[in-house]
Amino acid sequence: MSQSDTLFAQAGQYIPGGVNSPVRAFKAVGGTPVFLKSASGAYVTDVDEKRYIDYVQSWGPMVLGHNHPKVIAAVIEAVESGLTFGAPTERETVLAKMVCECLPGMDLVRFVNSGTEATMSAIRLARAYTERDTIVKFEGCYHGHSDSLLIKAGSGALTLGVPSSPGVPAVLAEHTVTLNYNDPQQVETFFAQQGDRVACVIVEPVAGNMNCIPPEPGFLQTLREVCDKHGSVLIFDEVMSGFRVSATGAQGYYGVQPDLTTLGKVIGGGMPVGAFGGRADIMNHLAPKGPVYQAGTLSGNPVAMAAGIATLELISEPGFYAQLETKTQRLVQGLEAEARKADIPFTTNSVGSMFGGFFTDEKKVVNYQQVMACDTERFNRFFHGMLERGVYLAPASYEAGFMSQAHSNEDIDTSIAKAGEVFTLLRNK
Ligand code: PMP
Repeated sequence: MSQSDTLFAQAGQYIPGGVNSPVRAFKAVGGTPVFLKSASGAYVTDVDEKRYIDYVQSWGPMVLGHNHPKVIAAVIEAVESGLTFGAPTERETVLAKMVCECLPGMDLVRFVNSGTEATMSAIRLARAYTERDTIVKFEGCYHGHSDSLLIKAGSGALTLGVPSSPGVPAVLAEHTVTLNYNDPQQVETFFAQQGDRVACVIVEPVAGNMNCIPPEPGFLQTLREVCDKHGSVLIFDEVMSGFRVSATGAQGYYGVQPDLTTLGKVIGGGMPVGAFGGRADIMNHLAPKGPVYQAGTLSGNPVAMAAGIATLELISEPGFYAQLETKTQRLVQGLEAEARKADIPFTTNSVGSMFGGFFTDEKKVVNYQQVMACDTERFNRFFHGMLERGVYLAPASYEAGFMSQAHSNEDIDTSIAKAGEVFTLLRNK
């Protein structure tokens, strides 16, 4: 019995399912989750002293790799001045300025503590601003676990087969319309019929919660056009893609400007931070300037702001994203080559440092239906084969993978070689 087995059994006595976020439980892939005790650069180490090359990166925040010395130093400096004050601090303005200067669609920004809070608050603001109730989202996109957004959602809600969670009132769910990702025609048809009652469209501009699905050319532009035509607010949920696919987010990468943007993960450098922001005329409806209420005891926490500032300083160095993208390409091309050698039908998607692999005969995966048709059984065996060989992937086939600055070419080549071994085993089974 491993230490992880023991700790998981103990955790289950006090924590529902032994975890504080469902996908961590390995329910999709089976087996016991590895309990981690430390991390450094591209690696995580479990309680049994086994080290893994990590492509989860805490589900996205650690774009610099784990425990970057400058981030840690900034955090320690902040800690020594006090953990939280519940009063304004200068660091909040420093980070807000950095975020507003980087993202094309961001005039004003408010910090919260998670991506869930960011999207929940952004849709409240959009509803108040438009005085409409209906929101449009896309099947397989995940925007956190607030009631209005937990309808046909991705990530753990897909993995666990709870597309609409019990406990979400039907009267609320009625106001959420779910359309197909990468289907501009359907969006246009819907808007032609009912666009004038839509408060907002919320979308992951690169979908990362149904594996990794980039937007097809024209999809995001169509969303911009229908929102403009019908007076709806366009929200890009960049909790995952923000400062991940480029320094200007997916909005800069694809050249489509939303009205509101939600952020999380990277902007907290590993600390719990979320944010939402965008057009000043919309954001000024927020309390205390306007009537839309939103608040947080720990929002703008000084330690979290320090981690975010240090992270954004480091990622704004020239060439940072080009280097990440090159490494991601090296990995996905290597994986595809190994799969071909082993005669395993497999394809990949990637944007910047986000990537995904699909066990499918299809040459290109662009929508939710194709993702659902992939061979999850095969993924599960691949996952365990890789874990055994010291490569830590997200424990479900509906999650994106992440490259960090700390991954070396050697780490990547080792991962590819291990994948080659596992692909061969999959063929023989
Ligand atoms: N939006 C997106 C696009 C996400 O990927 C996530 C989390 N994976 C969230 C929102 C929710 O963020 P959090 O888990 O911090 O509440």
